[in-house]
Amino acid sequence: MTSIARVAVLPVLLLLTALVPFAGNDFYIALGLSILLNAVLATAWGLFAGPTKYISLATAAFFGVGAYTVGLFYERVPMIALYPLAALIGAVLAVFVGLTTLRIQGMYFTIFTFGLAELIRQLMTWYQRSVTGSVGVYIITDITARQIYWSLTALLALTLFGGWLLARSRYGLALLMIGEDELAARHSGVRTTAVKVVVLALTSAIMAVTGAIVAPRWTYLDPNIAFNPTLSFMPAVIALLGGMQRFWGPLVGAVPLVFLFDQLNARFPTTYTFILGVLFMMIVFAIPDGILGLLPKLQQLRRAAPAPAAPPASLSAPLEPSTPVRGASPSVDGMSSPTRSPSPDGSVLLEVQGLRKAFGGIVAVDDLSFTIREGEVFGIIGPNGSGKTTVLNLISGVYEPDRGKILFLGRSLAHKAPEEIARAGIARTFQLVRIYPALTCLDHVVPAALFGGHVRSLGEARVYARELLEELGMGQFIHVPAGQLNFIDQKRLELARALALRPKLLLLDEWLAGLNPSEMLIGMELIESLRGRGTTIVLIEHLMQAVRRLCDRCIVMSFGQKIAEGTPEEVLAHPEVVRVYLGETDDA
Ligand code: ADP
Ligand code: MG
Repeated sequence: MTSIARVAVLPVLLLLTALVPFAGNDFYIALGLSILLNAVLATAWGLFAGPTKYISLATAAFFGVGAYTVGLFYERVPMIALYPLAALIGAVLAVFVGLTTLRIQGMYFTIFTFGLAELIRQLMTWYQRSVTGSVGVYIITDITARQIYWSLTALLALTLFGGWLLARSRYGLALLMIGEDELAARHSGVRTTAVKVVVLALTSAIMAVTGAIVAPRWTYLDPNIAFNPTLSFMPAVIALLGGMQRFWGPLVGAVPLVFLFDQLNARFPTTYTFILGVLFMMIVFAIPDGILGLLPKLQQLRRAAPAPAAPPASLSAPLEPSTPVRGASPSVDGMSSPTRSPSPDGSVLLEVQGLRKAFGGIVAVDDLSFTIREGEVFGIIGPNGSGKTTVLNLISGVYEPDRGKILFLGRSLAHKAPEEIARAGIARTFQLVRIYPALTCLDHVVPAALFGGHVRSLGEARVYARELLEELGMGQFIHVPAGQLNFIDQKRLELARALALRPKLLLLDEWLAGLNPSEMLIGMELIESLRGRGTTIVLIEHLMQAVRRLCDRCIVMSFGQKIAEGTPEEVLAHPEVVRVYLGETDDA
């Protein structure tokens, strides 16, 4: 379905939903309330978990905090002010959770968030017992079930609309990149922590408002109701069932599950949470992409022989440029600026002084110093394990040096995160290719262009990214998921992503490794063309043929130390280098 059709269907659906209370049947209202409540929570939950794959089990904490905002303050503060207050408290709590937990990944994040929700429930119980003397609070208002129903419908509409906007913004792309490969995202200039914390805070605020809206429905509120762990599991199960990354997923999941649990709860009130857990596992194993993820597979089955020629649609088709591609485009500087001959006598771009990095007992980089001038291609060679990649990781901010200084354009890079260094103009590729298999080539390059700071809008970034891919000979792959590219094209894509930052310094870690001889020639020509355009390049390379042809100067490393420095001819004739390489046969 096109996004236009979605936009048209949704208001109709919401309108029909809003009409349900006029049926005058309390059962329908109660059931509808339960569906809406779960749909809002699952949608908000999915906005964060869908793209990032961070599975949070803290929904109950945010919901409960919202409900308690009403429970504790409704007598003193007008209701209308309580919703924004709940949103604020939820967001602040989320920022705290985010800053403390988002560095932990995978299972640990999930366990931590679950523990947090339980902790808050216990704290609230303790607070009420010791401060107010009773465990619960009474909420006596004149808010009717219908009003709650309509408020939730409006909140659902807002949440869906917000999610739709988010997916089309630069933050939507950033979230996807975080889910696919967080470190690579940072090297593209994505401020991963900030993006995660902001989106977590926004979605948690929605959960808190949901709690505030629903609270008057329970005349009596206690921590076991407000912070019920089921509230944490349901959104996850619903979003998983419907399809995590899909717009309709949470809605599609909410309806059958709420009906199912309504029945289960009535028939098996004691074993009901157990059944929920089993269902959770079954969904993950049987339909990891959810109900909506099954649709494309069903369509494929129906077509007798799937046409192999058609390139698969982009995961994020809505991100295609809607404006003419070759419009008033920004100049693609990194690639098409007037040719400038390399000037190894240029000003100092990068200065490394007395650098040291040890991992336990292994000194990977030992008292290393060198200087790179603007416009040159600087080689770092040496046997495996001699510390080359570690040097690159130190420059690009993956590790902090134990000792020594790295100055870029005269300024220290100490304590700078990878994303800050990327934004300052140092781009890199990885020794082992790090691409996002599910994302299209265009989606790889757009964020780097955006976060490199030289384009102003998403539209401009798309134009720029498209031109860059075309110039690298990848025009036909713009909407192809990167996982389907062959090896050299994946390497080219990594290069495009790095170049999209419009870097002053490009770090290539064995970029030519693994290519066959003819691809190697294409690759070397590509690097030469970059150098011809004035990009300063650090080339970590094993292949002496490439070093001789491409590098102006190089250093040779052995056991973390520099053992030679000079032109390729000079260093390769150096007795120490000959000794180190004796027996190594990769010299071409
Ligand atoms: P090269 O790129 O020259 O092959 P590396 O920089 O990858 O070498 O590695 C240099 C040394 O540091 C090796 O002995 C390697 O095992 C060690 N090393 C690199 N990264 C780490 C790490 N994250 N933890 C522990 N040891 C590491
Ligand atoms: Mg290496």
